[in-house]
Amino acid sequence: MNWEDFRQWGRRAADWAADYHAGLRNEPVRAQVAPGAVLSALPDAPPEGAEAMQAIFDDFEQTIMPGMTHWQHPRFFAYFPANAAPVSVLAEYFVSAIAAQCMLWQTSPAATELETRVCDWMRQAIGLPDGFTGVIQDSASSATLCAVLTMRERALDWQGNKAGLSGQPRLRVYCSAEVHTSVDRAIWIAGLGEENLVRIPTHGPTRAMDADALRAAIAADRAAGHQPAGIIACTGGTSAGASDDIAAVMDVAEAEGLYTHVDAAWAGSAMICPEFRSLWAGVERADSVVMNPHKWLGAQFDCTTHFLRNPDDLVRTLAIQPEYLKTHGADGIVNYSEWSVPLGRRFRALKLWFLIRAHGLDGLREMIRNHVTWAQGLAARLEATEGFEVVTQPMLSLFTFRHLATADLDAHNRDLLNRINDDGRIYLTQTRIDGDLVIRFQAGAFTATAEDVAMAYDVITELAAAGT
Ligand SMILES: *Cc1c(COP(=O)(O)O)cnc(C)c1O
Repeated sequence: MNWEDFRQWGRRAADWAADYHAGLRNEPVRAQVAPGAVLSALPDAPPEGAEAMQAIFDDFEQTIMPGMTHWQHPRFFAYFPANAAPVSVLAEYFVSAIAAQCMLWQTSPAATELETRVCDWMRQAIGLPDGFTGVIQDSASSATLCAVLTMRERALDWQGNKAGLSGQPRLRVYCSAEVHTSVDRAIWIAGLGEENLVRIPTHGPTRAMDADALRAAIAADRAAGHQPAGIIACTGGTSAGASDDIAAVMDVAEAEGLYTHVDAAWAGSAMICPEFRSLWAGVERADSVVMNPHKWLGAQFDCTTHFLRNPDDLVRTLAIQPEYLKTHGADGIVNYSEWSVPLGRRFRALKLWFLIRAHGLDGLREMIRNHVTWAQGLAARLEATEGFEVVTQPMLSLFTFRHLATADLDAHNRDLLNRINDDGRIYLTQTRIDGDLVIRFQAGAFTATAEDVAMAYDVITELAAAGT
């Protein structure tokens, strides 16, 4: 394909995308293909000769699309959303066409400076004070890894990168059991070892870390000769929205001199609405905060904003040229590749800029408020329905429930969930709460309506009745 052919196919792609989204409500949300079906439909060997674009496109539609789960479906209520507002898809189209590597200021000054600007817009939008500086990472997992590496280097007086970890005291990091698995992996990759990730018990309906237990664990570690390095708190845990009391965690962190990272990958988007900010009260005292505009907000994946109270700590951890620190910010040049693990960087700021401008914060707030209201309404309806139990109450737009049965409850709910997802009108996933299997519901699709959420009630109750 040359750029002249691209004109025609680019227009077709735009039409295809609009048609695809217009037709989504008629498609099953989760792909209904058997394992291996797509693989066996694909030729074993690559073509030696060039193929016509029309043939490639036909196979894309006939072989690939039936095997896709539709994450942009308005009735996608599984996991968390990965919303791609049309305007952010358009921005990505431009980004693909430009295809710049935005690792250094000079490799695309506008990409760097727009990133600086939109990160500060997001900082204001979610109500963080102006002492925070933002950077766009590829994922929350990467931001958390950056935070753990910073904790490690800070605790080792910046010697870990050079000298390694052998012969050092055991570095300890604290979190609850409700944090995302990206925390475990960050601990593995940073070389700290999973045994040094100390799980603090949780309490109360928010499933928050017990601050007294946290204090006691740190004291016990110090007495044992270990070295506490940092605390990872969460606002809106993935399983059921667990949220730590950030202010209480910060009291401990400040008294102990520990680095703190707050993972609000999903719930952070809701902080554009001031009424939800009490959920992370105290966050302004954290060292590092991550939220994903690529989840709820609608900036097409991937786009993670990572806010730092002192970016010099991160740059000191990751920059490969020590001189960098000397000029950091002073000459007005920021090289964002020194703020993240990969060197190469996509131009991710553009879609966030398009998104915020095209919808305005008010437009995005309205979407989030609707989702929260609808999810709360659905939870209340299920709770009032004979045979249903809401296991964890809505945290923003996320709650868990189960259908009661006389026999094996876990098996009964797993079977109900499978039948719901095979039906295809909605898509839900499961989690475990205190050992029990429960069904998760979150409303978050960019195009969801009150009717879509109401349909979830109909599908759930209809299939539960059919199975008893
Ligand atoms: C989704 C999620 C993550 C992981 O996000 P990625 O950007 O996919 O790495 C981490 N923490 C929480 C709380 C999440 O919900």
